Amino acid sequence: MDFQPSPRGKQTAERVRAFIKEHIEPIEAAHWKGIHEKRHGGHWTEWTIPPVVEELKAKAKAEGLWNLFLPDAELGAGLSVLEYAFSAEETGRSLMAPEIFNCNAPDTGNMEVLWKYGSAEQKEQWLKPLLAGDIRSVFFMTEPDVASSDATNMAATAVVEGDEIVLNGKKWWSSGVGDPRCKIGIFMALTPNPDLGRHNQHSMVLVPLDAPGVEIKRMLPVFGEYDEPHGHGEVHFTNVRLPLSNVIAGPGRGFEIAQGRLGPGRIHHCMRCIGAAERSLELAIQRGLDRVAFKKQLINLGGNRERLAEARVAIDQARLLTLQAAWKIDTLGVHAALTDVSAIKVVAPTMLQNVVDFAIQIHGGAGVSHDTQLTAFFNQARSLRLADGPDEVHKGMIARLELMKYGQK
Ligand SMILES: Cc1cc2nc3c(=O)[nH]c(=O)nc-3n(C[C@H](O)[C@H](O)[C@H](O)COP(=O)(O)OP(=O)(O)OC[C@H]3O[C@@H](n4cnc5c(N)ncnc54)[C@H](O)[C@@H]3O)c2cc1C
Repeated sequence: MDFQPSPRGKQTAERVRAFIKEHIEPIEAAHWKGIHEKRHGGHWTEWTIPPVVEELKAKAKAEGLWNLFLPDAELGAGLSVLEYAFSAEETGRSLMAPEIFNCNAPDTGNMEVLWKYGSAEQKEQWLKPLLAGDIRSVFFMTEPDVASSDATNMAATAVVEGDEIVLNGKKWWSSGVGDPRCKIGIFMALTPNPDLGRHNQHSMVLVPLDAPGVEIKRMLPVFGEYDEPHGHGEVHFTNVRLPLSNVIAGPGRGFEIAQGRLGPGRIHHCMRCIGAAERSLELAIQRGLDRVAFKKQLINLGGNRERLAEARVAIDQARLLTLQAAWKIDTLGVHAALTDVSAIKVVAPTMLQNVVDFAIQIHGGAGVSHDTQLTAFFNQARSLRLADGPDEVHKGMIARLELMKYGQK
């Protein structure tokens, strides 16, 4: 195993870091302050995109720091999963950065689906503007009325009727649906077919957000934050009738596509967690050095040095595990890396949660305000322990794969 970044991976990550330092960090605090002060709350119809976002996107694109996640050399940067991992870590240091490089979830996963499984027509209509950063997208899988960590519980339907497909059901936690630039969703639902097995009963369908029968009901706050201007919505689908050509790769292939979608996506999420943890630790140390209580710097009080050391160890462990998973995906494929991908999904968000918690604590009251990115990093970590599969589901997967070695399922 060689985790040494290739010259290309290293150089890209260095350029991403320099771009963030020069163009994003100086305006970031004002950007979030502007968003918080508008206090739009759940009224997503009023959400707007601050002009600086599109300006910075244009700059990053002009510098070739664009679509870094896509392993296709013509349409993206052509980096391997391992090569891109180093840049993903850099973007994780800032909540604004992933979008600036067109490397933000859920668009990256949706673009990968279209790139791998989309028809020529679907690519032209939706992948092209997504890769250009002109529109944004959403992934509709989780449902309010069923335990969605078990995907076979899904109740929403996508029923084939002649040359059309008809969608019905409720989805929620649909991230990004509040963004005024969000134009397309991938809707995953049940397409019952008694002739096929349990894992061929679902389809992924491209649904334009302005299709008749699609209705955003509300936005869901995460610990009181709406994460505007993107937001996480509850969306209802009532007899949404679309051409059959909107089905990705054909009816019944939803599970197969979902599996391919999540491997690299989890590497990206986890490397961003590692970047966020590095930034949190820097903030913690700086605060600990700068402030004095009981005649000592905060960092030298109580168990803070030990906490700092534990954070350093945990971050480096999570990084090595994630790089190993990325390396396995590149060299052996997603299926050979299932244990590793589940392992990092358990480890990295929990590690971030613990490191941010230390950073919040050492900041005192400031730690829970909007004065730093710490509360947003905490939200990210806590939510990620649920999103893309709760911790327990991944632990269950690791245990199952381990027990299979002993002949047990
Ligand atoms: C901020 C945020 C953004 C999200 N974005 C999206 C998105 O863009 N698109 C989308 O479709 N979904 C999204 N989700 C939804 C997320 O993927 C689901 O919440 C998650 O899959 C869990 O499903 P559920 O909420 O129905 O929980 P449930 O399935 O009801 O599970 C609840 C709890 O039961 C326990 N549990 C479940 N299974 C097991 C098990 N096998 N062993 C032990 N315990 C278990 C766990 O503690 C779990 O947390 C997002 C969620 C959040 C919080």
